[in-house]
Order: sequence, then C-alpha cells, then structure tokens
Amino acid sequence: HCQLRQSAGERRAETHPLTWRFREDGALIGLEEYVEKDGYAAVREVLGNQSPQDVIATMKEANVRGRGGAGFSAGLKWSLTLQGGDLPRGYLVCNADEMEPGTFKDRLLLEQQPHLLIEGMILGAYANNSCFGYIFLRGEYIEAARALIQALNEARAAGWLGKNIAGSGFDFDIALHTGAGRYICGEETALISSLEGLRANPRTKPPFPGQSGAWGKPTVVNNVETLCNVPAVMRHGAEWYQGLSGGLSDDGGTKLYGVSGRVNRTGLWELPIGTSAAELLDRAGGIRDGRALKTWLPGGGSTGFLLPEHLELALDFDTIGEYGSRLGTGLLTVVTEEQSVVSLVRNLEAFFARESCGWCTPCRDGLPWTLKILQSLERGEGEQGDIELLEQLASDLGPGKTFCAHAPGAAMPLESSIRHFRAEFEAGIAHERRAAHEDPIPAGG
Ligand code: NAD
Repeated sequence: HCQLRQSAGERRAETHPLTWRFREDGALIGLEEYVEKDGYAAVREVLGNQSPQDVIATMKEANVRGRGGAGFSAGLKWSLTLQGGDLPRGYLVCNADEMEPGTFKDRLLLEQQPHLLIEGMILGAYANNSCFGYIFLRGEYIEAARALIQALNEARAAGWLGKNIAGSGFDFDIALHTGAGRYICGEETALISSLEGLRANPRTKPPFPGQSGAWGKPTVVNNVETLCNVPAVMRHGAEWYQGLSGGLSDDGGTKLYGVSGRVNRTGLWELPIGTSAAELLDRAGGIRDGRALKTWLPGGGSTGFLLPEHLELALDFDTIGEYGSRLGTGLLTVVTEEQSVVSLVRNLEAFFARESCGWCTPCRDGLPWTLKILQSLERGEGEQGDIELLEQLASDLGPGKTFCAHAPGAAMPLESSIRHFRAEFEAGIAHERRAAHEDPIPAGG
C-alpha cells in the first residue's frame, strides 16, 4: 500500500534526480529503458575523464548527507577512506538492510530502479578505489532481490560491471548478499561482521570501516538512497544539486519523504530537502477520519516524538536535531489523539529489546527492563518511581554508553514520549499504589 506518488509536474529530470525515471505503473525499469533515460551516462562521462579525487571533491561540494538516517557527509566519508598508492583495495558496501520501523524508501528504489543503484555504486567504487561491491539486502525484500539479480546480470552482460568498465581500465563487480532478518545487521559494523560470516555483533568505532572494515580492508558503507543520488550529482554538478533544495535547507538535493500511520494516503514523495511535515501531511491527504494529530515521529522508531507545533519545521538533519529528535529516515509516522503513547512506546521498545544483539550490558539488560515497566504501566499496574526509572534507563541507554547506535535509538522515543506525555505515563500507575504512597499506612497500623 506504499505506492510512490507524484504528480506529473514533479517528474522532471532537472528537479527530481531519484524518481524522474519511475514508471507510473510502478514496474521495474530494465536496462534498455534505463539507458534510454540517460542511464549509465554518468559512468561513461566520469570513468576515464575524471580522477577519483575529482569525484570525491564534487560529492563533498554537493554535500550529499547520508540518507540512511545519520546525515554524515558522503563526500567526507569517501575522502577519509584509506585509498590509492600501494594500499590494498577495499570494498564498497550498499546498506540495503532497510528495517527501520515505518521506513520503505529504499525498497521502492530497489524494486523499481536497481540500475540507478548499480550506477551509483560503480561511481562510488571508482572514487574509493574499491575492488568489489556488496549489496547487503534485507532478507524479506524478495521483490527487490529479484529486481537486483536481473539488473546485475543485465549490467554485467552489457559491460557496465566486470573488467575494463566502459573502456576505462577500471574493474568492478557487485554481489548480492541477503540478510537473515535482524535489525542490527543494518548497523554498518554489525553488517560487516555478518558479511564476513560472523555473528552480527557491532564493532567499536574507530576504526571506522573506511579505515578497517570487511576482512580488515577499507570499506565504504553507504545507504541505497545516498548511492542513488550519485549519478545525478556527477552528471549535473554540485551547484545544481545544492540548488535543488530551493533554499528550504542549508543541505542540498532532494529527499525521499514518506508518511505512514493514520493518514488518508500513505506514500512516498521525492521533494526538496527541508520540506515541512505539514506539506507532507497535506500530500498524504490529511489525517484519517477527521481525527486530530497528537504526535509524530520524523523518521522511524529510533527518532524522537515531535508535536503538532513542530509541523512547520524544515525536515532536514540539523533543524530536527535541535528539537530533541533527529531526522532519521525522513518517513513520518503519524499518531492521532485516541492512540495511547504508552502502548506505542511499549510496542517500539518490544521491537528494540527483541532486536538487541545482546553484546553490551545496557542494551541487553536495559531494554527488556524498560519493556517490562512499560507493560505494567500499560496495564495500569505501574508503581511509584517507574517513570523516574524509565528516565534513568533512557539516559543509561543513551549515546556513548553502548557499542552502537541501537540502544541510543531506542532511548529517543522513550525519553521524548515521557517529556511530552508524562501524564499518560502517570495514569498507568496503579491507583491503590498511588494512594498508598501519598498516604502511607502509619507505622504499626
Ligand atoms: P553514525 O553517526 O555513527 O555514523 C554515520 C556514518 O558516518 C557511518 O557510516 C560512520 O562510519 C560515518 N562516520 C561518522 N563519524 C565518522 C568519522 N569521524 N570518520 C569517518 N566516518 C565517520 O550513525 P550510525 O550508527 O551509522 O547510524 C545511526 C542512524 O541510523 C540513525 O540516525 C538512525 O535513524 C538510522 N537508522 C536507519 C535505519 C534504516 O533502516 N535506514 C535503521 C536503523 C537506524
């Protein structure tokens, strides 16, 4: 039910580098059609004519910020990767393990435009001197796997992958690796462990994968949407890309935004980065059944709750970061007045507790503890001190206290929900216990 929706006016190559090639019927774009629509033109133009350093410089100038959710500059990441000279060649990994709750943007790119990703990966590999690429795909994305297998075979047969790509002397090929359905595999170092055939435990950073990643080699890990931006940046230039945001944001380009939850039309739209949530809600046909908006998540379960008063904010990495959340994937989850925030957070924390790899103590023990407290509050059987305990847990699960971003991600909806909706949590404290606390039984009574 998550169709890509665009009006005809939005499908202009000049302004929508990711989606202008999409077909109205949502069908897969095969090689022939992709090439007809200027596909692989960037590879032909760049390989042989530009140095890897030129490509990195353009990417840095365009300021393509990582669309997986963290917003780290892709050009900067590429410039920090150990490369060139006598150094060993490493890998380029596309993180297609899209499993963030409420997020479905990469799926549509993969199912409908696999060649766009392959072209982005060839350019990324060229810039990073990578000898081989992997697409780490969420195992449940069966349609995407089919599309990618077909596209990889087509690209190989046409000479876009393999030896001496487009006569440039550059060799590069890509393998598809499907995951086995664990959220933690989307964390880049856990992904690398999994790719190596190990248990998907995250690794400490530094060293960042760009210095020492898969099998100890320099490894660049980029999200699907990020890589899909690269062909357009290289064809049209950094200035053009920057201009796409139309002054709505200091960041450049467009962003795939989406909406799910209680709206009339869930969907995905490519819009200038910095578009507001109000505009997105409008495109989603407003809230369903005339209900009122209570709260919303800006980009998946590992972001913080925002309020109706935040709807006009620019949905970009820096702006949202100032309001106790982060942009995350940019796919909104809409919550209406009659929905219980405690139940919603309980549901999210159950997900995070189940998906913890168990490698570090705060995450392994803290998340089930959090869940247990939320369950008792949901049943109206909470105890005095539970909310303070949840706040303490949110802090103990926060940034810098665990190996990876899993627990800090889980702490975001927890902390922000208590901050905004404390009364709902208080209502879950059992009446008799509340009374007992307020009016303790006298000693000996
Ligand atoms: P992070 O900020 O630690 O890192 C982001 C990227 O920047 C990584 O590739 C990292 O290696 C690189 N980086 C950061 N500092 C660097 C440095 N000094 N030198 C070189 N490279 C550097 O974030 P993260 O843990 O990778 O990701 C957290 C984000 O993932 C959250 O924003 C969350 O919203 C998002 N997320 C997305 C999904 C999804 O399905 N798309 C799922 C879960 C979480």
